[in-house]
Amino acid sequence: MTRQRRKRTHHARNHIYRATRTRARQKDLDQIQLHDLDPKNRLALESQPLDVDKPGLAQHYCVECARYFESDTALKSHWKTKVHKRRVKALQEPAYTIEEAERAGGLGRETRKSRGPEVEMDAVE
Ligand SMILES: [Zn+2]
Repeated sequence: MTRQRRKRTHHARNHIYRATRTRARQKDLDQIQLHDLDPKNRLALESQPLDVDKPGLAQHYCVECARYFESDTALKSHWKTKVHKRRVKALQEPAYTIEEAERAGGLGRETRKSRGPEVEMDAVE
């Protein structure tokens, strides 16, 4: 790659590229909301077996952020950060569901109700 080429590949969107890399992939908010925040799953995540591949042997895990920390101190100070608080706030909002997406696309239950007879005719055919 020449200098010219390097210059023109930036496009000021490295953060988007980084987020889409598979190895940097983090859990989505709805995955955390619907699965991890369940008290049973939460307990399992917070008391994971020792894992040498994870930071801090997987003993210090923040469920909301889906992140491992090196020590208890690091985890406790993370709970006080803006990043974590913002995340907790985002998780309190209802998850974006398939139903909501269909409603936005005009395929949801609301439209189906209004054209009820048409749906019945489809069922007969
Ligand atoms: Zn956190």
